[in-house]
Amino acid sequence: MKATSDVVVVGAGPYGLSAAAHLNACGVNVRVFGETMAFWDRNMPEGMCLRSPWEASQLSDPARSLTIDAFQTATGVRVSRPIPIRRFVDYGRWFQSRAVPNVEQRKVVEIEKSTAGFRVVLADGEAVRCGRVIIAGGIGAFAVRPPQFAGIPRDLVSHSSEQRDLTGFRGKRVVVIGGGQSALESAALLHESQADVELLVRENTVQWTWQRPWLHTFRPVGAALYAWPDVGPAFISHAVARPNLYRLLPRWLQDSWRAKSVRPNGVGWLKPRLRDVTISTGLAVLSASARGNQVELKLSDGSHELVDHVLMATGYRVDVRKYEFLSASMVSALRLIGGLPALGRGFESSVPGLHFLGAPAVWSYGPLMRFVARSLSKSVVRARRGIVGRPVANALQRPQSVAVSRGQEGQ
Ligand SMILES: Cc1cc2nc3c(=O)[nH]c(=O)nc-3n(C[C@H](O)[C@H](O)[C@H](O)COP(=O)(O)OP(=O)(O)OC[C@H]3O[C@@H](n4cnc5c(N)ncnc54)[C@H](O)[C@@H]3O)c2cc1C
Repeated sequence: MKATSDVVVVGAGPYGLSAAAHLNACGVNVRVFGETMAFWDRNMPEGMCLRSPWEASQLSDPARSLTIDAFQTATGVRVSRPIPIRRFVDYGRWFQSRAVPNVEQRKVVEIEKSTAGFRVVLADGEAVRCGRVIIAGGIGAFAVRPPQFAGIPRDLVSHSSEQRDLTGFRGKRVVVIGGGQSALESAALLHESQADVELLVRENTVQWTWQRPWLHTFRPVGAALYAWPDVGPAFISHAVARPNLYRLLPRWLQDSWRAKSVRPNGVGWLKPRLRDVTISTGLAVLSASARGNQVELKLSDGSHELVDHVLMATGYRVDVRKYEFLSASMVSALRLIGGLPALGRGFESSVPGLHFLGAPAVWSYGPLMRFVARSLSKSVVRARRGIVGRPVANALQRPQSVAVSRGQEGQ
């Protein structure tokens, strides 16, 4: 293996694979590290479905040929709608085998700046020197664990990202905390696995999207209200779908629309599956403590509950300082706004040559970046031969590829 490279991509999820697909197609000398679709495979519950629309769930390759439709044709596997997670993982792996066969399923433990670029150190000790690094490390490092549950063993309290198989809770009393898609879908899956489940939602109501699907799909009404990635409220969705324009809006407007676009909600098709689930709104957990094999919860209405398990579907708060592979000197050189890097053209951070894709790009490129939608354009990575020294990811133009859609705050 060469110990030098023009570009290193960290991550083999939808963003890393899409970026690498573009770089490979341009003949750039790129090394890609990460486990293919690992977060989707291991950290989301079996039985889950993507809420992102079909169009917005495609990965990005320059020829636009590696679509889900092409996957179906090539493999004979039928993908239903909404897209089951298992099929999405299969699709991602199929995409990788065709567009990014050079993925190395290895872990990056440190990235530091060197005189001529970067030094990327792998868990097995190999160090790779490169001119640019594209970080597409996903949101796994950012899981929010409310402090009320600190110190309670994981077999009693877990984050939703730690539960791949919810069938093990059959017959158990489980409280799910949260009001977003992940909480709602986890509650539905637990209920369908014969667990005795209660959903505790801090807000006074559960918010739903896609209650009237025709408003999203019936042309020309749907197209006027919602842009194709369908991220964000009506009309705002059009600005969100154009990250290169979005980033030029006044900051107050960007922040306001971002908040509106990622607030916790559930997609309408989940509603019937929750008909027989107890949903308690306007309730928060004040404190929690282990009581033998159970957890005692003290709630904000003064009541107490004893349950077998608490599932924290409390989402993710992006803070790139939590990426363990970023050296301290690198972190201190980054311009951060509450843990989010300020990115310029081509997703380049304040450290020249260091780029961030996916959720960490949300402050600069808007809420679309929080989703796996087809948010990267054909020039997501407009790389050319001899690119080193110039921005690798030249810019998002008209969104064309990568990523789906779902508010991660509430996932
Ligand atoms: C329950 C849930 C449901 C979701 N549903 C949707 C949906 O329907 N639609 C949608 O658009 N989005 C959805 N999302 C959001 C989605 O997870 C992210 O948008 C998406 O995963 C981002 O892709 P990514 O490529 O940035 O990261 P990921 O898919 O998380 O991939 C991260 C990659 O980085 C690699 N990596 C991490 N650390 C290292 C390291 N140290 N060294 C090497 N490699 C490393 C991993 O191995 C992996 O390959 C959902 C999220 C959750 C939690």
